[in-house]
Amino acid sequence: MLTKEDLAKYPFLKQTASFIENKGLDLSDLASDEYSPILARAIRRIRNSIEKYIEPTDISDLDAEILSYPLALALVYGSKSGWLVNRFATIEAKRTEEELRKEPSEKLIEIADSGFGWKVSKAELKLEWEEFGFSISFHNFLEAAPGFNSSQWKLVNRYLCGGQVFLGAGSLARLICEAFKMKILRRAADKEMLGFRLPEAFRPHLEEILEAAKEIRQDYEEIPRGLIADAMPPCITTIVNDVRAGKGLSHMARFTLTTFMVNVGEGVDDVLKLFGNVADFDEGKARYQIEHIAGMIGSKTKYRPPKCDVLRSFGLCVGADDLCREVKHPLTYYQKRLRATGRRGGSDGTRNRKKGV
Ligand code: SF4
Repeated sequence: MLTKEDLAKYPFLKQTASFIENKGLDLSDLASDEYSPILARAIRRIRNSIEKYIEPTDISDLDAEILSYPLALALVYGSKSGWLVNRFATIEAKRTEEELRKEPSEKLIEIADSGFGWKVSKAELKLEWEEFGFSISFHNFLEAAPGFNSSQWKLVNRYLCGGQVFLGAGSLARLICEAFKMKILRRAADKEMLGFRLPEAFRPHLEEILEAAKEIRQDYEEIPRGLIADAMPPCITTIVNDVRAGKGLSHMARFTLTTFMVNVGEGVDDVLKLFGNVADFDEGKARYQIEHIAGMIGSKTKYRPPKCDVLRSFGLCVGADDLCREVKHPLTYYQKRLRATGRRGGSDGTRNRKKGV
């Protein structure tokens, strides 16, 4: 049932590996002009992951799409950057998940089998609150589920019967993607990969990629650790004042404050301390949420605060001092204020970003 388009969508299938092998190409062959569309697509895949952009599978040139994956992976492994490997694995897994969510049941079962040798069966289990269309052996389930931190993925919280774990289509898609992501990450730690050197012909491309990654990391990380209170934008100052006064906060206000704090380098305990005055404060729950937002658990994605126009629509922009009129994001405000007061140099954090995740 698997088509050539499927091989392009799902690089972890054994049929995809055979297709690539049958081409009989060496990694260094792909550096020649003849294969420049493949190299261009590989670079685009990596840049997408750096920018957290989930681009649908490009089916306009299936050969280039299929072959671009191993080349992109080689460039990423050759970079020796754990950050880049992690970012690439995360975005490729998310792209795959979007594709899997559109697949019919039979194809999902075939993909799980071809990709990871999992024996998934169709099921018809209807509980009061949920429907499960699939079952999978608990051994297979445990190959990927520990990658999730959410308690719903713990075996004790799943419906388990006769050694089979019951799942809905969305959960099966997530499980497959997590297995794909883990495969990329584990391979990066292989002895063979640690010694891997990229052919010289790709060096200039790798340097460009690393430069793009560096810029993004500067935006995200080059803020000095720890909050500098007098550089905070007015929206954040207001939320901080409210929280200190023990006022109830909307979900969006809590999310904005937490994301802002973790992005300016405040530790989990500092953020927790800040929320200590809130009436319904539950330390366990709050710690879990902060760690999740900081990318320490779960999807391992560090969340950014919402942009100004989003905050405006939630009534959280109390704004508009002079600097507010120049920015579109509270973190940019903070960075500009730091620079203006001589506490930070470098990039101003603005970027023409595509769809984020
Ligand atoms: S303009 Fe942006 S930075 Fe300024 S207060 Fe409004 S949301 Fe905050």
